Amino acid sequence: MPYLLRFVRFLNPFSHLGDRNYNLWFSPIVVLFAALLTEVVVKVLFANDPSALGGLAILIFVSLIVYFAFREGIVGGVSAVGITILYYLYIIYSRHYAGEQLSNGIETTIVLGVVYLVIALVIGGLKEQIDLLIHKEAEARIRIEAIIEQLPVGIMIADMAGKVISANQRLAEILGVPIPVGLQIGTDMVVKASQNGREVTPAQAAIKTVLETGKPVIGREFTVHRIDGRDVFVKVNSAPIRNKTGKVVAAASIVYDVTREKEIEVRKDDFVSMASHELKTPITSLKLYLDSLEVRLKKIENSSVEDVVSKIKLQITRIQTLINALLDVSRLQTGKLVFKRERFRLDKLISQLVEDMQQNAGDIHLEFAAKPAVTVVADQFRIYQVLTNLLTNAIKYSGEGKRIILKLKKESDRAVVSVQDFGIGIDAQQQKLIFQRLYQVTTTKEKTFPGFGMGLYISQEIVKRHRGKIWVESELGKGSTFYFSLPLGGRVG
Ligand code: ADP
Repeated sequence: MPYLLRFVRFLNPFSHLGDRNYNLWFSPIVVLFAALLTEVVVKVLFANDPSALGGLAILIFVSLIVYFAFREGIVGGVSAVGITILYYLYIIYSRHYAGEQLSNGIETTIVLGVVYLVIALVIGGLKEQIDLLIHKEAEARIRIEAIIEQLPVGIMIADMAGKVISANQRLAEILGVPIPVGLQIGTDMVVKASQNGREVTPAQAAIKTVLETGKPVIGREFTVHRIDGRDVFVKVNSAPIRNKTGKVVAAASIVYDVTREKEIEVRKDDFVSMASHELKTPITSLKLYLDSLEVRLKKIENSSVEDVVSKIKLQITRIQTLINALLDVSRLQTGKLVFKRERFRLDKLISQLVEDMQQNAGDIHLEFAAKPAVTVVADQFRIYQVLTNLLTNAIKYSGEGKRIILKLKKESDRAVVSVQDFGIGIDAQQQKLIFQRLYQVTTTKEKTFPGFGMGLYISQEIVKRHRGKIWVESELGKGSTFYFSLPLGGRVG
């Protein structure tokens, strides 16, 4: 049976589409064989009747020319034409045509020869064009596949039905198992994964989200628990593949192995956390010694070092603030920042803050304009930290502005606090970035302000953990208003 199938496939001209190895010998041999067969058939069945031969010869040989032109291109078609014409001449010669019959025979052979040649050239030419196109497309596909295979990232492509149509070797190396073509995304699972300690189900695959929504998924992070026992940290970007009309036809995922980066980050966070812890104790004792020194110096009249001591104290307070910020950042990173739940009056806390901060504000006037009585359930110390940070920034970036206005508003389900300054402002581009960790606006003007770009990041994390929101409205040169909200229900966690 396979032989028969192979034979049928061999004869079927369509199965040779894209095959550009045109055979020069196959068509003349078959056509010659057909001529011999025709001779035999005519002799045996029609007793050499010339009228029977004419129609039969045209039918058989036109079919053969078409067949070979479509199978073997111009070479196949033209060589079939050649043998056919030779056979026609043989007929004329072997039947001893003479006179008008001879001239008619020659004329017909010439006309048929031209028609056959046109047929062979047109069909053969078309076939060669089709082969070239198929070949080019296959080459392009091979090139793309080779590129995908060589890329240093894992790649997986799935069709609209969610079936894997391609996955490279690098992906298999990252995951520890090969991803088979035909794997059904969303149901089949080849490797276990988790996100923030929770198991990831096949239905949560990034590529599945893309196929369902048509929108890209950027930077999804998973821990892959490989069969060999190793945990690998991966980052996945997934995007739709669209056709010319914009319709999504497939989706591709790029998988990065970020295990090393993650390890370095964890080590760095551990180091920052440890270093700030180690620094905290000596700095605290240093400050206590300075306090006692200050008390003793006060007893000595006209002491010129008193001023120096207060300057040292100021610098130490700055170091302490920095160390605390570093500790907060590392606790936030590792999820170790614990929040208390306390019921307190937010308006009173703000009043207290304004009173405390006015001393450090120089000639800038702090106003607490709207102050309705608002009770919230939150971590009072941390909310005070957020307020201090926003107000310190407002003072720091006030420039020529001499007023800062604080407002508290009670909305249906939340309290909104705003801190408005009339200082240097922030342009629209930067507004999106300032809440990122360690981000600072770096134009020459702002460069002159000391800072580490941690305050807004910490504030944002604190507010987020209270299920609130923090945002900014600002115009360059006119000033900024920072807002944050807290739910009145007061949930922390
Ligand atoms: P920093 O320690 O640098 O102040 P923050 O995280 O508190 O760090 O702020 C990040 C950046 O946002 C600052 O470097 C500053 O450029 C900008 N910024 C914050 N508050 C204001 C403000 N009130 N006016 C103008 N720029 C501000």
